[in-house]
Amino acid sequence: MATPSRRLVVIGAGPAGLTAAFEAQRSGFDVIVLEKDPVYVGGISRTVRHQGNRFDIGGHRFFSKSGEIMRWWKERLPDDFIQVRRMSRIYYHGKFFDYPLKPWNALHNLGLLTSTACVLSYVWAQLLPRKPERSFEDWVSNRFGRRLFNIFFKTYTEKVWGLPCS
Ligand SMILES: Cc1cc2nc3c(=O)[nH]c(=O)nc-3n(C[C@H](O)[C@H](O)[C@H](O)COP(=O)(O)OP(=O)(O)OC[C@H]3O[C@@H](n4cnc5c(N)ncnc54)[C@H](O)[C@@H]3O)c2cc1C
Repeated sequence: MATPSRRLVVIGAGPAGLTAAFEAQRSGFDVIVLEKDPVYVGGISRTVRHQGNRFDIGGHRFFSKSGEIMRWWKERLPDDFIQVRRMSRIYYHGKFFDYPLKPWNALHNLGLLTSTACVLSYVWAQLLPRKPERSFEDWVSNRFGRRLFNIFFKTYTEKVWGLPCS
């Protein structure tokens, strides 16, 4: 009988693909990683170069509620972690909005008229949710209302993911 193949192909060199490839190689597989980006590895966690500086597409912190994941990373990078306070904000129309969005902070910053429109849109989404939920757009619209989706999630997400929310 032929020996079972120990060759493995991983598609995508984001954190998931690279981690899978790393673990598979440790388990004795012969691994090839295929990445469609001609320059970068790291997926949406990649660090890009721009005018001699390095930027993450969005500020990335290693954060997981899974002890196993945290241990895994600490074993890989024992001396490189620094601890930072976790705060992300969106600068929109001259104001800072907490991210992930906090309802009161968002409504307060948006002002009375827009906030009222957001609340009505939220109520509408609760009464008539999109079914079935096929996309991120449907998912967010059902939970936050169409208005908030258009103001924050659509622009922000499409910018950082490079994909339409639909
Ligand atoms: C702005 C922003 C901030 C974030 N901040 C944090 C944070 O602070 N902490 C945190 O833990 N997470 C954060 N995340 C989430 C984190 O970036 C993702 O969870 C993680 O990158 C997902 O990894 P992945 O490998 O599953 O997918 P991706 O990172 O999307 O990687 C997929 C890879 O596959 C490649 N690929 C796709 N299709 C093909 C194909 N057909 N052939 C070959 N290659 C292909 C892509 O080019 C890409 O390189 C953030 C995300 C964003 C956008």
